[in-house]
Amino acid sequence: MRSGEKLRGRTTPSSKGYQNSMTRKGIYAPEILISGAFVTDHIILMENDIITDIVHRDLLQDDIDIDYHDHGKLIPGFIDIQVNGGGGILFNDDPSVEAINAIGVAHQKFGTTAFFPTLISDDLDKIEQAITAVDTAISRGIPGVSGIHLEGPFLNKEKNGIHDACKFSTLDKNKVALLSSLSKGRTLVTLAPEMAEAEFIVSLVAAGVVVSVGHSNATYEQAMQAMAMGVTGFTHLYNAMSPFQSRAPGVVGAAFMVTNSFASLIADGFHVHPAALNHAIKTKGVEKTILITDAMPTVGATQQDFWLGNQHITATNGKCQNDDGVLAGSCLDMASAVRFIAKRTDYSLEDAVAMASLSPARFMGIDDKMGEIKIGKKANFALLNKDLNVIKTWINGVKCSHS
Ligand SMILES: [Zn+2]
Repeated sequence: MRSGEKLRGRTTPSSKGYQNSMTRKGIYAPEILISGAFVTDHIILMENDIITDIVHRDLLQDDIDIDYHDHGKLIPGFIDIQVNGGGGILFNDDPSVEAINAIGVAHQKFGTTAFFPTLISDDLDKIEQAITAVDTAISRGIPGVSGIHLEGPFLNKEKNGIHDACKFSTLDKNKVALLSSLSKGRTLVTLAPEMAEAEFIVSLVAAGVVVSVGHSNATYEQAMQAMAMGVTGFTHLYNAMSPFQSRAPGVVGAAFMVTNSFASLIADGFHVHPAALNHAIKTKGVEKTILITDAMPTVGATQQDFWLGNQHITATNGKCQNDDGVLAGSCLDMASAVRFIAKRTDYSLEDAVAMASLSPARFMGIDDKMGEIKIGKKANFALLNKDLNVIKTWINGVKCSHS
């Protein structure tokens, strides 16, 4: 039998029967990642968009259509909490439902089944448009969109990276109301805590916004105070933040010291040295480390240059940078990040997938719905070949168009 052909389930007298089998369907792959380990000869059963059972193929019974694949590893779909663009589109340039859909489609072929469109520091009216677009996209069922990430504009110009410091502003009551106005999905805000008054950070957290430290020159003490206010994450650890030094542990030191906080990493080989990746994962643990892409429009696109505001950005050999050589997000996709971890660090494929699925799900509080192949969770999967390239992706039990 060839991959993709339908296998009909058969009845075995010793196993329990299933009712309403015609509403069920299944997927078979030689290896399936369940609870952190690959198992063989199992079938995932689904009803609509939810995983309803995981059974050994010998125990399959009743007349269930099985989507059969004779090679590959089936893993939970990736959850990318920092996606600036893809497919030639920058979310800042086009904060619309159509753009969100196109960005999602561009990343599906790399195994991403949930994503948070990410707005780089911009004007308040742009933030409002972006939030409205994400709300509408979720309402319309655009596959994978799960909320929004607002990276700025409450950042420190000392660590602006590629952000336009002219867009930076300070938090106030009205801005807190705007940032917490998404009615569907989750909101992640990256801010520099030293640039914000404590009461507004506390208000954001109280409103249900997930807050992460980034583009920050905070002292260790300031970063620790932010964590005490309910901040739970560190955005692209090491990059655009005060470094770890003997007498000044900085934001990086706070990330290492607060064990229950999450830290995201850009594992593209340009942003963070493999030794620094190893150290971060060893210190934070796989369960508190999150792989992100920080992807720009060049991911999943043939066009390899674009404009970010008035800066011309070029993607060369997998690196996005402006004309002065400043890194501008990345050309990274989630599958490449997972491969980089599995091949260039001390951590396994199983660990890498967990950092790309379960860890971000926990950080964003959506792990009741996704992040693992588990009964009751969404049928979001990617199928990897032996080179760890994604060959098929499913969102809500539906195979994506590239598959
Ligand atoms: Zn950034």
